[in-house]
Amino acid sequence: PPRANETGNGHRVRVVARVRPFLAEEIQVSGNPGHDCTSISKGTEEDSLTISTETASRCEEYKVDACYGEATDNAEVFANEVQPILQCLFEGRNATVFAYGATGSGKTHTMQGTETDPGLMYRAVKSIFKSATDHGCTVAISYYEVYMDRCYDLLETKNEVPVLEDHSGNIQFRGLAKIEIKSVEEFQALLAEGCARRRMGSTVLNDVSSRSHGVLAVTVTSRDATSHVLREAKLNLIDLAGNEDNRKTGSDGLRLAESSQINQSLFALSNVINALNANDARVPYRDSKLTRILRDSLGGTSRSVMVACLNPGSYSEAAKTLSLAARSR
Ligand code: ADP
Ligand code: MG
Repeated sequence: PPRANETGNGHRVRVVARVRPFLAEEIQVSGNPGHDCTSISKGTEEDSLTISTETASRCEEYKVDACYGEATDNAEVFANEVQPILQCLFEGRNATVFAYGATGSGKTHTMQGTETDPGLMYRAVKSIFKSATDHGCTVAISYYEVYMDRCYDLLETKNEVPVLEDHSGNIQFRGLAKIEIKSVEEFQALLAEGCARRRMGSTVLNDVSSRSHGVLAVTVTSRDATSHVLREAKLNLIDLAGNEDNRKTGSDGLRLAESSQINQSLFALSNVINALNANDARVPYRDSKLTRILRDSLGGTSRSVMVACLNPGSYSEAAKTLSLAARSR
């Protein structure tokens, strides 16, 4: 039989936009020349978004599945977009949640959040853990980073993890830590350690966190009520690398190589999402490490949502993010 992901008739990938508020320091600088955006607002229909600039010569409308404005908190994004897809994990189906956007657009705020408004990672694990306990399932997590097409563990040690692929395209991470969660508090501590490790970066660079994809993989293991066979389902929560105009980020050899890897993997991801949403027969999962890794959790019977994060002050960034994430009208 064809693999579920290749049938091309699975679930669409939901794409929603989230515009963060202006930050205090951005408001203080009146007439900030960095702001080239006059408005990001709801479009002519409930689920569309219009971005425009001062000159009004540039005004574009994009189609998304939902829009969230500056008054939205992580609790609302979680309740509307993530909670509804978690049930599938208990039916043996995978799921993926992405935060996508330029550096500074709110991806990490969305995924990690703050003490007063925890992000989607904490909220998802808390909810899964509660249902798992009720259903007699176990929950385990892995947390890793994809940088320059290589994977690095973020739990326990920061070792490189070889990614192997068998003939049928199944991915295996050799030696990736997978830790069973016994309480939400324990998870919180592990996540904090992993996030700190992510910021530490490699030996050459002190911060690769905005130039790598951070993937929290939550595995739910349940026993089928009738057959008693163990089955696993996985939720990936991903803080993607910044998709800014990488021509601006520096021109030394390493930065150029990084930029081209980031552009390539985000482009491959957007092609996969577009192919899934267009119901194409062929979905180009093989075009990057990221999409290969996500093959079993994107499309087919998997549920997925991409939160396109937008900085309210940048037209060019918003246009770039939406042109890859949304359908232009
Ligand atoms: P990214 O991870 O995309 O680079 P961050 O999540 O670090 O961006 O956000 C950039 C800044 O904006 C941070 O100071 C963050 O606290 C703030 N921020 C982002 N989203 C929100 C939000 N929804 N509400 C309040 N502050 C936010
Ligand atoms: Mg970030």
